[in-house]
Amino acid sequence: MVQGKSGTLSYKSRKLVAKDKSEWIRVEGTHEPIISREIWDTVVSLDMKRVRKSPAAKTDGSIFSGLLYCADCGFKMRYHAERRKYSDGHTALFKSFICGNYGRSGKTACFIHSIYEDALIEVVLQDIREKARYAEYDRERLAAQIVRIKEKEKHSRLASYEQELKATASRITELEKLMQNLYEDKCTGVVPPTVFQTLMQKYETERAQKAAALPELEQKVRTQLEVRQEADRWTDIIRRYTEITELDEAILFALVDRIEIGETKRFGTTRVCDVKVFYRYVGNVDDVVTQEGREAG
Ligand SMILES: [Zn+2]
Repeated sequence: MVQGKSGTLSYKSRKLVAKDKSEWIRVEGTHEPIISREIWDTVVSLDMKRVRKSPAAKTDGSIFSGLLYCADCGFKMRYHAERRKYSDGHTALFKSFICGNYGRSGKTACFIHSIYEDALIEVVLQDIREKARYAEYDRERLAAQIVRIKEKEKHSRLASYEQELKATASRITELEKLMQNLYEDKCTGVVPPTVFQTLMQKYETERAQKAAALPELEQKVRTQLEVRQEADRWTDIIRRYTEITELDEAILFALVDRIEIGETKRFGTTRVCDVKVFYRYVGNVDDVVTQEGREAG
């Protein structure tokens, strides 16, 4: 129970002012507590910790919420938090994820794909740092490599589309000039009317075909240019994170589109699990970085 949170400055004044917290009259234990003192203290200290660590963090749940998918079945990962008590009395919160499909339907649906949030944070931080260092080392080259691989995936090349677009546009201009000349020749009597008819039709057919193909070509060139811009944008953003040591929701939001969690494999006492980070703008670029590493080494 707290009283005296505000008061007048003097008996002559009627204006209420807020008093300093130290001046409040506080009487502990006047009410039956709704939650135990112990739980309250734990919650408060957790809150303090969270606020200090990352202002953007959620009040509950994981910073990865909504980002994780099972690599095998594509289901969203299910979040699980568990407070464990140790023999010496201290407790710790374990945050983990499992495949949502497995969580719902069990072994027949998928493997468990379980991973602790702590472990995932380390893996993702390392992934970000690795890519950031490549970008920092030679940004242009990395962006070019990303474009090359993306074009390969789409079986397309900006250069060839640009060339085709140029050729088509110049052929259209050429045909229009031919038609104009043909018309003048007909008027001066150089070309007989029947020849004029045939040729004019031929030119017009080709011109119409080429003109119809233009929008699609332009669209392809635009799309490919976007791939380049996005590779540039991503390399520009990621290279600021070479020394990143802490992860929060804001950083994940800025950088990551989704993360795929592979099945855990055991090698003796070590658990190994494939984590694939898909970044905003460029998706997964592990192949690019691996290839670069191989060429450099
Ligand atoms: Zn699954």
